[in-house]
Formats: sequence, C-alpha cells, structure tokens
Amino acid sequence: MQVLVGRPRNAVAILLLTVILGALSAMLPAASAAEGQADKIVVIMVDGLRPDALKHAKVPAIEGLIKRGASTMKAQTVTPSLTLPAFASVLTGLTVEQHGVNWNEYDPARGYLKAPTFFEIASFADGKWGGVYLNKEKLLHVAKPDRRLIINLCSQNDPTCRSQRIVNEVVTGYKTATEGKPSLFMVHFADVDTAGHDKGWMSKPYLRAVEDIDRAIASLIKGFQELGLYDRTVFLITADHGGHDLTHGTNSPEDMTIPWIAAGPGIKRGYEIKRPVSLIDTAATVLRAVGTTDYYVEWTSKSVDEIFETGPASSAPAGKP
Ligand SMILES: [Zn+2]
Repeated sequence: MQVLVGRPRNAVAILLLTVILGALSAMLPAASAAEGQADKIVVIMVDGLRPDALKHAKVPAIEGLIKRGASTMKAQTVTPSLTLPAFASVLTGLTVEQHGVNWNEYDPARGYLKAPTFFEIASFADGKWGGVYLNKEKLLHVAKPDRRLIINLCSQNDPTCRSQRIVNEVVTGYKTATEGKPSLFMVHFADVDTAGHDKGWMSKPYLRAVEDIDRAIASLIKGFQELGLYDRTVFLITADHGGHDLTHGTNSPEDMTIPWIAAGPGIKRGYEIKRPVSLIDTAATVLRAVGTTDYYVEWTSKSVDEIFETGPASSAPAGKP
C-alpha cells in the first residue's frame, strides 16, 4: 500500500519541479542570446550623416556604441549617393543597377522594389517579424508589405514627426504588437539630411541635428533596456549618404563616405573594421547577426564577418577540417 501512495507523491514532486524549473527558465533571459548571439537587430539609418560630423558634434550615445562595438568611418554608399537607391541596397543587398530603384522621389505608380529584402528573407526562412519606421514617404517604395512586417510612416512633412516621436513609436509598437514581435528593425531619421539641405553639411544647424539624433538613439537604447531586449540586440548605425554644401548625389568622398557601426552580443568590442565596407554589405550582416543563415539569395552583399567574435556558422560538411 505504501508503494502505491509513494508513487503518486513522487509524480507530484516531479511535476512541481518541472513547473518551477519551467517558470524559472521563462523568467531568465535566453542564455544563448545573452552569450554571443543576438536575436534582434536595429538598423538605424541616419539620413545624410557624414562620419566626420561625429568628431565635431557631441554624440555620447554613438561614441558609446563605437566603444562597445565594431566600426569603420570609411564605409561607402552606392552610386548615386541618394536616399531611395541607397535604402533599396541596404534592404536587398544589391547594387542600384541590380535592384533598379534608381529614382529618388515618391511616385506611387512605380510600386515596390522587386528584389527580396532582408525582412522578407528572415520572414520566409525563419518566420521572423520585422518593423520598419520611416521618416520619408518615398521610402514606402522599399517597404514592401509582408505578412510579418510592421510598416510605420511618420513623415518629415508632419512637424510632430521628430526623432523622439519615432523612437516612442518603435518602443510602443513593440509593447503593443500582439500577432508577432519584430526581431529586425529599421529606424530612419531624416532631420540631419534636412538640416544639410537647409543650412549646409557640417554647418552648425547640421551638427545640432546630429546631436539631436544622438539623443534619440540614446532614448531608443533606453527603451530597449526597459523592454528587457538590450542584451539580445545588435544596434547597427549607418547612413544612406553624406553630403557637401547643400546637396549630395555625386561620387565625391563627402557624399560617398558614411559611418558603419555595429554593437551588441556577438560583436567585437572597440574593434576597427579593416576591410572595405559597402552599404550593400549591411543586408548579409543583418541576417548573420540574428542567426538567419539558412537561405539562398544571389546577391552582392557580403557579411562583414570580421566584426563577429566567432567565425561564420560553418556550412562545411562534417569531417572536413
Ligand atoms: Zn538629401
């Protein structure tokens, strides 16, 4: 009789232990994500940001990411050095010639870019959700609707669409998303470019706009800390182009050279990238950073592998050295 009583007791104890362990593991952050593998990435596109502006403006948030991550101040955008072609290259990992988005105005009749974006690849290959936060209407051309993509436009033509509001929309959007929470984000800030066109690249108002975006980036990082996502998130900051005088679009170094900074789990700290980086390489790097590696796309993008603490996920057959 005692055996019959004892057995259910053990079963209850094991069940309880299982429940407690399950609850504990749910409370802890995913260990694998905290130790070297991000499961989220935020690509911050600072429209018109020249790398030398980071030396002349006070940018503690961006400097913090440079110290905590891997960076180059010599990355190159695409030709022509214009917003819409450059964004299409970031998202598709293709040259402008390949993806065909060679215009730079909002023209709804032209529809969406045709080539697959990194959002679509992550959605298709891994069921990952994305969120894209745009500050210019014309970027709708590259925000191709996908079942797992949240598209948010806060147009620069609306005076309330400043950087802090965009940050709030990213954070609130994550909190309130019910169907799926984004793993990949692209956040666009237009104000630096606007100041460049109005008052000149590297002018005082331009540098003030850079400082304002740095505060927005600090606020975005804080938002991710409060959401409990910070330790699992790679932040990648770059620009679509630079600029000179009141314009950009030429092949001059002022227009072509952009910063490219990545920081977060699995990324080397305080590392200066040695190889030449093209804006096009962002797409492959984004997918590698969040561990989406099982896909095939014939693109130009080459992951900036040297920024990662561990080598590329090996696809070599077992037994090979
Ligand atoms: Zn511009």
